[in-house]
Amino acid sequence: MDISSFPYIIAGSGLFGAVMAERIASQLNEKVLVIEKRSHIGGNCYSETDSETGIEYHKYGTHIFHTGNQKVWDYINGFTSFNTYRHQVLASVNNKIFQLPVNLETINSFFNANLRPYEVKAFMSAKTAGFKKQPANFEEQAIAVLGEELYEAFIKGYTAKQWQVDPRTLPASVFTRLPFRTNYDENYYYDQWQGIPLQGYTAVFEKLLSHPNIAVMLNTDFFSVKEHINQQCVLIYSGPIDRFFNYRFGKLEWRTLRFEKETMPYNDYQGNSVINFPDIKIPYTRVHEPKHLHPERQYEKDKTVIFREYSLKDDGARPYYPVLTEENKRMLELYRNEAEKLEHVYISGRLGDYKYYDMDQTIAKALETFETCILKKENTR
Ligand code: UDP
Repeated sequence: MDISSFPYIIAGSGLFGAVMAERIASQLNEKVLVIEKRSHIGGNCYSETDSETGIEYHKYGTHIFHTGNQKVWDYINGFTSFNTYRHQVLASVNNKIFQLPVNLETINSFFNANLRPYEVKAFMSAKTAGFKKQPANFEEQAIAVLGEELYEAFIKGYTAKQWQVDPRTLPASVFTRLPFRTNYDENYYYDQWQGIPLQGYTAVFEKLLSHPNIAVMLNTDFFSVKEHINQQCVLIYSGPIDRFFNYRFGKLEWRTLRFEKETMPYNDYQGNSVINFPDIKIPYTRVHEPKHLHPERQYEKDKTVIFREYSLKDDGARPYYPVLTEENKRMLELYRNEAEKLEHVYISGRLGDYKYYDMDQTIAKALETFETCILKKENTR
């Protein structure tokens, strides 16, 4: 393939790269080359079918699509329909199952109480009395909302396993991803639109990248072919930003996940798609049972597959989560300043922006980048 003939190059076929490729190919009618290091498209959203059970699973951890953004919802519906799955999470604490995020059921069950919604505020203020009104970090935010006992039971151990940093060095925003409810609503998300793509995530990526103007090169590290790209081309890079600048200011920290698979001789092993294990003595953070993600499918009745999830430090091979400490944020600033200076180069996506984006935020960022950077530039040429 003649790499130098492409006016648009995209490094990475995850959600950011795939949406950018689709927009450029369909709206500008330009040729785009997507260069992907892995042997498959889709980044960490990739899904595949387990050969033993026929169950589709998300190779890099359970992904639930959820959004309140009409533009994103309309856009993604051009490439897939969604099933009616609603995400509910449970937590196993002291060998008992609780609802998560913390809601009235969790509070009543944990404290052996029988509160009404209007009684929760007074009950919780007694638990959170003495904590700062303006929480400055993850731990302060969590205790200000949940009080010490719920924090210890549901958050502290899980967070220690997930991030392996002092929870006071993480921003409050990581905690505020989790809602807190004073009613019995068990939905993990508030968003108006939720679900799993009916044909799975990989099919969405196949469709996004199916335009005849798009070529995809798998098993190719962008940096190994960088020299061959046309110097005038527009480059969209969705890999880790520090790698792009050859770690000039140091390495940004990432967390990655490892999954341990087990096939079980039951129709249903745990009764839910995800169960969290906050206890620090249990080495994994969650157990996934992907069969539950597609209630509309007819899977075999006597088999299911589960994945135990372990969190670990990333060595640069499989970054998942940016570790948003002040030190990393300072380093990111240095990289962002360098990125601003580049012409025809756009660095973004979860890895490029070093942001804890959900899928809908990544799509929104891609649509915005296309409109404000690519389209505008094209129109002024
Ligand atoms: N969290 C926790 N206990 C749980 C679930 C989440 O302490 O049972 C904390 C943890 O620090 C986690 C953060 O809340 O990193 C955000 O959770 P979320 O479910 O959004 O994580 P993701 O699904 O993105 O891994």
